[in-house]
Formats: sequence, C-alpha cells, structure tokens
Amino acid sequence: MTQLPSPAFDGLYGDLILQHFRNPRNRRLVEDAQVEVEEFNPFCGDRVKLQIKLDAEGRVCELSALSEGCSIIQASASMMSDYLKGKSLDEIEVLAERFRQMMRGNSEDSADGLGDLEAFEVVRQYPVRIKCALLPWTALEEGVQECRTKAS
Ligand code: ZN
Repeated sequence: MTQLPSPAFDGLYGDLILQHFRNPRNRRLVEDAQVEVEEFNPFCGDRVKLQIKLDAEGRVCELSALSEGCSIIQASASMMSDYLKGKSLDEIEVLAERFRQMMRGNSEDSADGLGDLEAFEVVRQYPVRIKCALLPWTALEEGVQECRTKAS
C-alpha cells in the first residue's frame, strides 16, 4: 500500500514532510521494548507500530516507529519518533496534546515549541489526512498509558 508522491503533491506538503517520508527514522526494531502498540486506519490502509523502551528514570531510551500506508502517516510517525528520545511520559503527553490541538486548529500558541512538527499544520487543509497525521500520536498515547500501567 505504498503511495508515491506526485510532483503536484511535492508542492502541497512541505520539504520536511517529504524528507521524513523518503528517509523515515527509527525503523529498527527494539529488542527488549517494554511496550508495543499498533494502530490501523482502514480508510487509507495506514498502519503504525510503536515500540518504546524506558530507562531507569522513566525516560525513553530506545524506540521504533514502523509505519505503512500513505505518505502523511509515514512522515508523521518518523518525525514524531525523532522527538521522543530522552523524554519522560509526562513530557510526551504534553507534546502529544499540543500536536493534537494544532491539528484541530485550536489556539495559535499550541503550536509553539513544536519545532519541525509544525510542518504538519498544512495537512489541516486536507481534512481526510488529519487522521493520518494523528494516528502515530494515538498509538503513542496508548503506549504511554501502557507504560504507566506496567510501571504501577
Ligand atoms: Zn493516510
């Protein structure tokens, strides 16, 4: 289910999104991950699998983000994964909420501090794709919940 971007598509979404789509990060499987979650969106065949490993202080030390489907989910999973190393579960939840608010178009300042992730704001112009951009974050939020359940 791989869709290659057309030249017109190149212009629609920014360079950052395309870079991540073409060279996705953190795709190597983590051998002893504490948590593994999967999400699926049948609408465009998007699928994402996240693995998270926390260190003794409860910060992400290793992770993988495997995705397939449209270019948006692949870029989103890749870019998201770049932001997670060294972060605590609380910090991840804040980041995920900010990203969600940005994608919903709520409040201008929610995008502040999102860095490269702000590139996804353009996807809001294509409402059916918003779900694609959010799917990895849904998986991430589930992963965080699972990490907490396991730690308690
Ligand atoms: Zn999609």
